[in-house]
Amino acid sequence: MKSFPVNKINSKEFRLCLINVVDRSYLDEAPLNLLYLADYLVKNKILSRKQIRIIDLDFEDPVKIVEKFEPNLIGFSVITAFYSLAADIANKIKEKYPVTTIIGGYHISSLPEKLKQPFDIGVLGEGEATLAELVSVFKKNKTSVSDAKLEKIPGITFINKLGKIVKTQIRLAIDTKKADALDWSLLHAEKIFQNQVFLVDGKPQVFKTVRIYSARGCPYNCAFCAHRVVWTGVRYFSAKKVVDEIEALYKDYGVQSFQIMDDTFAISKPRARDLIRELKERNLLGKVFFSHLFIRANLIDEEFVQILKEFGAISVFIGIEFGSARLLKRYKDGQLTNEQVKNSTKLFGKYNIFVFGSFMLFAPTETKEETEETYQLAKWFANQKNALSLGYSVTTPYPGTKLWTEAVDMGILDTDKLVWDDFLMFDLSSGDRDMTKIFFYNDYSDRDTEKIWAKFAKLSNHVQQKWESIPGWTESLIEADRQNQKLRAALALKQRAHDLFVFPKYYLRQILTKPEKITSYFYYFIKDLQRFNKKHK
Ligand code: SF4
Repeated sequence: MKSFPVNKINSKEFRLCLINVVDRSYLDEAPLNLLYLADYLVKNKILSRKQIRIIDLDFEDPVKIVEKFEPNLIGFSVITAFYSLAADIANKIKEKYPVTTIIGGYHISSLPEKLKQPFDIGVLGEGEATLAELVSVFKKNKTSVSDAKLEKIPGITFINKLGKIVKTQIRLAIDTKKADALDWSLLHAEKIFQNQVFLVDGKPQVFKTVRIYSARGCPYNCAFCAHRVVWTGVRYFSAKKVVDEIEALYKDYGVQSFQIMDDTFAISKPRARDLIRELKERNLLGKVFFSHLFIRANLIDEEFVQILKEFGAISVFIGIEFGSARLLKRYKDGQLTNEQVKNSTKLFGKYNIFVFGSFMLFAPTETKEETEETYQLAKWFANQKNALSLGYSVTTPYPGTKLWTEAVDMGILDTDKLVWDDFLMFDLSSGDRDMTKIFFYNDYSDRDTEKIWAKFAKLSNHVQQKWESIPGWTESLIEADRQNQKLRAALALKQRAHDLFVFPKYYLRQILTKPEKITSYFYYFIKDLQRFNKKHK
């Protein structure tokens, strides 16, 4: 019988580490995915908050934290572009510390048949209930968990004793309407929000900003989007839950700015009105505002824009994608047209709502004329007074999408020889992209693709420069950056101090076995503290 080791026999001591695997460009963001998992485990009394340790790759070495915390299970949340990074971290941990590893997120949910070491178990789709059941089973079984026990858990994949990949039955989605507000205190305060600059009342100002969800899923099925491998249908959280969180974040942390991360936010007018009603009842309407709401231009009319304005929207994100009607029809679900994009952008402009427009390049079968159509639309967009930002990306065939199937059928992807790092649409930290790594060349040469990329970069810079010319904008950005650096430094110090109390046994062992190390730990801790005080006083 193949079994998965359980490292501790006392279920009260059972411990779980969670890691959100992202690269440096995303490390400032609160790990919302892990917060949902931890919150579910604590609310359902599967684990206490002390039994869960979220590892922050921004300033922590996961191997060292695992050595201190001695978890029974480690959960990795992983998207395709960061799979290699995740495998590297898991390998390093396993070299030093034998532990059962779980991978969840888009990558494994799209490719359950590709599960392999260093990961032992894959969680498919929505993770909360599945992880809770896995933890319960591992807690109950004192030394090992058998294949037979795992086979009964819906929503997972694992390799059985015969070396065969077993995929269990599909897990039903949780009832989002019954979910309570998240307990944000499961994260350190410094990790919850970031400082960002917004133009409010005509002036650039720095605001504490938090990302939240008000729903899961999207009614559309665009060929390049993998949302359906994780979310089923469109499921709203209750307006009460959403506003409970907004209220707590506003009152407890002084957060005024919220980014709602729903796949598509503006689907239903009655739903948006429910949220407005709830905000009004709590006396929050007008005190908080919302940016970057994902909308579909084909769902927008003037009434919807007015509702969003009343809700407190200051900016929206439109996935414009292509200027070509043929490409839109082929890859973007829901009959989107250039006219709808233009009309909705203008309508948002009429109500002083800014628009982030995103475009896609180099789709399969895309011709040079079609790329030019996209460019002309992007140029039109860049010259709108309410254009906030212009994003552009390489069409990427993510696993789990129709585009992936198309690329495999075209012989463009050899699924056994993929370099997962290439699935990062572009390097967010530099806005750069290695143009030798696009997926669909069609009749383009490398030189062509570089030229097109440069043309879009110019448009994007044009929009950015408009913002930089606003008096006080650059200074506000510098101030936001200074405050964010301070937050990160404070967070690192707080976590180290916190660990000292949470892992007394570890430090005691270090003092007894490696006294030189503990001296250096305290030395650097005090040095960090001095540096922090000097820099941020
Ligand atoms: S509308 Fe957005 S979230 Fe929905 S399927 Fe298309 S790309 Fe995905």
